[in-house]
Amino acid sequence: MSDFRALPSVDQLLQSDMGRALVEAHGRQAVTGALRAQLDAARRAIREGASGAALAAALPARVSADLEGQARSGLRPVLNLTGTVLHTNLGRAILAEAAIEAACAAMAAPLALEFDLDGGGRGQRDDHLRGLLCELTGAEDATVVNNNAAAVLIALNTLASGREALVSRGELIEIGGAFRMPDIMARAGARLVETGTTNRTHPRDYESAITSDTGVILKVHTSNYRIEGFTAEVAAPDLARIACKAGVPLLNDLGSGSLVDLSAYGLRREPTVAEAVAEGADLITFSGDKLLGGPQAGFIVGRRDLIAQINRNPLKRALRLDKIRIAALEATLRLYRDPDRLADRLPTLRHLSRPQPEIAAQATRLAPQVAAILAPHGFDAAPCECASQIGSGALPVDTIPSAGLRLTGDGGDAPDRLAARLRALPRPVLGHIEGGALILDLRCLDRDEALLEALAAP
Ligand SMILES: *Cc1c(COP(=O)(O)O)cnc(C)c1O
Repeated sequence: MSDFRALPSVDQLLQSDMGRALVEAHGRQAVTGALRAQLDAARRAIREGASGAALAAALPARVSADLEGQARSGLRPVLNLTGTVLHTNLGRAILAEAAIEAACAAMAAPLALEFDLDGGGRGQRDDHLRGLLCELTGAEDATVVNNNAAAVLIALNTLASGREALVSRGELIEIGGAFRMPDIMARAGARLVETGTTNRTHPRDYESAITSDTGVILKVHTSNYRIEGFTAEVAAPDLARIACKAGVPLLNDLGSGSLVDLSAYGLRREPTVAEAVAEGADLITFSGDKLLGGPQAGFIVGRRDLIAQINRNPLKRALRLDKIRIAALEATLRLYRDPDRLADRLPTLRHLSRPQPEIAAQATRLAPQVAAILAPHGFDAAPCECASQIGSGALPVDTIPSAGLRLTGDGGDAPDRLAARLRALPRPVLGHIEGGALILDLRCLDRDEALLEALAAP
């Protein structure tokens, strides 16, 4: 069985130049493991008749490929050319430079997270955000938790545990990722009381459903669908009056909740958080990583006494934010104090407000270069018009005119083959398939070179 003898031993391989270089790069334990695995595979192949000499020659390359595969993180940066700006599966908002710097500083050194530098005593971690949130929303007080789902959970649990939570049948939404309003209510310990109908809910529906056991009236921004046609909902100010008269708090879950009027940036208006506060809701919840453009977080703003109750809820400790996100949120919120420069500094707003002609010019510029890279693989690229979406449930029915590249090839499976090929790149490029082509929406492409480099990588 001389074929087996053609294979080197683990020790011989570790002592070789190749082995030493791999140990330097990946560490002894990982290299030994990869060598053993490849030697086992080679012995099995020899038993099935393969040549030992050929396997021995191929061994270094296989071990090295193995180790490189293991070293590559699954959390690889990708180019989001899907056309969905706030893509939940791609991590939603890209943070502003200032937020990235603040997060890095918070990771690298101790900081006065819960420490009062003036008096030397204990501080509150939420204090770093409370002032900014009140200033930007006009609310009396504010608190912050892990995400908006957590914000809704802790608000309901605080106001309506063991009691009734009243909500319109038109607003019992599922957001996706298993966030269903009725389930969250159950977990919060609240008894769901539905009122009105799917398409129409009137003031009298709420008024007649309020009992001495009503702990909260919940209004939910139906962020990922729109009811059209013969519809009626009770506007927030009217609902606030009904709630106030009954002495029951009104909780308004805004979901995306922008801090600025998006129509100033060429987008359709979404209710702002400040408007929701002015409309009289007692508490308002919204996300940190949707339109706001920061890291994942859930904000609750509103009445001071209710915020104090939420902060005393033991769930608050389980849902609190870490220092990295608090630092990034503080830096993000600070940018909102200078709305004139917000679109330059906040990537989410910059991407959402990019004018279509600018993106179209980018597509025209890039098409021949991308076509040249793809031609040897049998694919072509041409500029095209397309439609972007905000994503994460904001303005679900609206699209934003955009432009991109239409990539085509021979055969009905060309778009799928090309999509798989671009996903396998060291920096994966993600588009969407439509009309027999792979479309790369360029709205979120800040630099032409980023796409060219990604596509040209071996
Ligand atoms: C997105 C959304 C949520 C959940 O927010 P997360 O930040 O994803 O936890 C809850 N309610 C509404 C209305 C939403 O749009």
